[in-house]
Amino acid sequence: TGKFFVGGNWKCNGTKDSISKLVSDLNSAKLEADVDVVVAPPFVYIDQVKGSITDRIEISAQNSWVGKGGAFTGEISVEQLKDLGCKWVILGHSERRHIIGEKDDFIGKKAAYALSEGLGVIACIGELLEEREAGKTFDVCYQQLKAFADAVPSWDNIVIAYEPVWAIGTGKVATPQQAQEVHVAVRDWLKNNVSAEVASKIRIIYGGSVNGGNCAELAKQEDIDGFLVGGASLKGPEFATIVNSAT
Ligand code: 13P
Repeated sequence: TGKFFVGGNWKCNGTKDSISKLVSDLNSAKLEADVDVVVAPPFVYIDQVKGSITDRIEISAQNSWVGKGGAFTGEISVEQLKDLGCKWVILGHSERRHIIGEKDDFIGKKAAYALSEGLGVIACIGELLEEREAGKTFDVCYQQLKAFADAVPSWDNIVIAYEPVWAIGTGKVATPQQAQEVHVAVRDWLKNNVSAEVASKIRIIYGGSVNGGNCAELAKQEDIDGFLVGGASLKGPEFATIVNSAT
């Protein structure tokens, strides 16, 4: 449901030179018209990317501060991201949850603040391997969803990214069936806890070892509305293949 959405999360990668090359590859790539395409460079390169990339591709940040800027050493505010031309922010990414230690309620507050300032939010959820093996995949996703639901006044400007942690950066992509099963569960949860309208309209994208070779099968699943791509988004032609995988 909704327009296919493909985001490239560049994480903590790149230099001025490598990013200049990546942007020029993206600018010359043929991207299908009916897809929202977003890239998320490291903060320090957002201005460079915004100034050189085609308007066809929107810019996301990979994180944002929880409120208005001020005396918060090392943080980047939503206002600053807007000033640089960002339209989106990725929040609740598993690397921030599990490596940096961000908690559900903090992530929820970040989402509410970013939305209140007009940014779109790519809201990430997903279980650890041990949680999947213990049969807790749905419970973990529901709890993470609830933290967003408790904090945000509207889901209009949110895309949900289901990213099972065991699939991120491991080359172990979820099977189309595994991803579809969780996407359906997420949609059901939204239907039961938010509204049928939100459940049917919201885009639920999959992330975790998506590449040019596995994207087409995943994209065929009814409830996979796009992708959040890490490693493969650092290669322009492969990212373009993923963008175009739904058609
Ligand atoms: P990989 O595509 O490198 O597995 O990363 C996925 C991801 O975390 C996107 O946010």
